[in-house]
Amino acid sequence: MTLDAVIVGAGPNGLAAAVELARNGLDVLVLEAESTVGGSARTEELTLPGFRHDVGSAVYPLGIASPFFSSLPLEEHGLEWVHPDVPLAHPLDGQRAALLKRGLDETAADLRGDEASYRGLVSPFCRRWDAFRRHVLDAPTRIPRSPLLMLRFGLLAMRSTPSLADRFRTQEARALLAGNAAHAGIPLERPLASAVGLTLMVAGHTVGWPFARGGAGSITAALASLLRSLGGKIETDSRVTSLSDLPAARATLLALTHQQVAELAEDPLPTGGRLPAGYRDMLRTWEYGPGAFKLDWALDGPIPWTDAEVARAGTVHLGGTLEEIALAERAPWKGTVADRPFVLLAQPSLFDPTRAPEGKHVAWAYCHVPNGWTGDATTLIEAQVERYAPGFRDRILARSVLGTADLEGWNANLVGGDVNGGAFTLSQTFGPMRSALRPWGTPVDGLYVCSASRPPGGGVHGMAGYHAARDALKRTFGLA
Ligand SMILES: Cc1cc2nc3c(=O)[nH]c(=O)nc-3n(C[C@H](O)[C@H](O)[C@H](O)COP(=O)(O)OP(=O)(O)OC[C@H]3O[C@@H](n4cnc5c(N)ncnc54)[C@H](O)[C@@H]3O)c2cc1C
Repeated sequence: MTLDAVIVGAGPNGLAAAVELARNGLDVLVLEAESTVGGSARTEELTLPGFRHDVGSAVYPLGIASPFFSSLPLEEHGLEWVHPDVPLAHPLDGQRAALLKRGLDETAADLRGDEASYRGLVSPFCRRWDAFRRHVLDAPTRIPRSPLLMLRFGLLAMRSTPSLADRFRTQEARALLAGNAAHAGIPLERPLASAVGLTLMVAGHTVGWPFARGGAGSITAALASLLRSLGGKIETDSRVTSLSDLPAARATLLALTHQQVAELAEDPLPTGGRLPAGYRDMLRTWEYGPGAFKLDWALDGPIPWTDAEVARAGTVHLGGTLEEIALAERAPWKGTVADRPFVLLAQPSLFDPTRAPEGKHVAWAYCHVPNGWTGDATTLIEAQVERYAPGFRDRILARSVLGTADLEGWNANLVGGDVNGGAFTLSQTFGPMRSALRPWGTPVDGLYVCSASRPPGGGVHGMAGYHAARDALKRTFGLA
């Protein structure tokens, strides 16, 4: 029997693709290597009983911004967004922390001397949020519905972050922009880091940076529950090692990164289609970004921030000034880790009591390290927390340490510890594999790639899965 569609990988994109196909009446099967669904959106008791840690992703500006997720009844399947009082805090030595608040005016007012420059940079995109989010969560080569807005964004996105920050006089505004841009995982001097920075800041003011109540796993559990309610099937503990071993299907969607696709596609699909050798070679040239070095802590109490305002934020950027962050983000691309790495930290249990026993807390943090790095950044990361929260180490009850190989062992898509499915470079973003005329297709009819390696790239938003499913509905099933 030939199925309508088989999907490999039950992370946010694989599940999103499956839901979109199933809600259009197709018969779908998802095959997942691990014993639970979720990919990099899973929650586990990594340290002590009752402490629920997000092993991969933790904070969801792109999840709540996702046009696809917001079109689904995920709340009926258990998803609840939890908004911290303030999306983001960025502590600075010897001065008050910069805060990215929900209100644009409130945030700008704090940046005394930079109010107008901050508003001028961010507000055009906040005002046109719906058009903006739809374009940044699509393929970059598709003609935008708001070309002038996106031209403006494109011109800013191509600027290096330090040059974009030259409009600011205060350390606070410069550091806020740099910390957001550092999510890109590329040196801040390169084009596109600013695109990530701006997108996250705009999202902070429009939809916020929520957690999922109960943890990351609630998002993918809701997608899986919705899929099952639509008749879709999921088989866990089913690692796919060759395309030939898949059940025959009219459409096959791989929620895997390019190197993995190249390996599986040595063999043909059961229906006979085979990826040409030249295309597989091109997939093998795909460049991965820095790895992550990840710590999760079970804590005896909240993190004792010197500036109490930092406890209002769900996410904290620990990296000091723009110059310090720029140095830290260059290091992994030179094969090293800075003495003071840029640390992304989340403190969900301050806002969601389901995450830790009463009075106790969890915290999540990672920094960028060279891809495949085998060193230990525990001391460096904890020193960055201690710098802004003296006494932090005394609150640690237990810690989980995950290096690049541990992360890849936990989820095979994290090649060398890269959390985004590939380096966010200009050539890859606009190159033939991400933005050709068919950004989610391959040279084989009915074979699609729908992971974070394809547009719109990394993040828990399900949009690569959604777009690939729409492409399949149109081309393979003639339905869209
Ligand atoms: C440490 C870390 C922090 C992050 N922080 C954030 C954050 O705060 N916010 C955010 O939005 N994003 C964050 N991300 C990125 C985000 O999680 C990913 O971009 C997103 O999960 C990608 O979704 P995906 O479905 O493409 O792949 P994945 O989530 O990686 O899922 C891929 C799935 O495929 C399965 N698989 C792999 N190989 C096979 C095989 N051969 N056969 C069968 N199944 C297979 C895997 O087991 C996995 O379940 C983070 C990621 C990590 C790792």
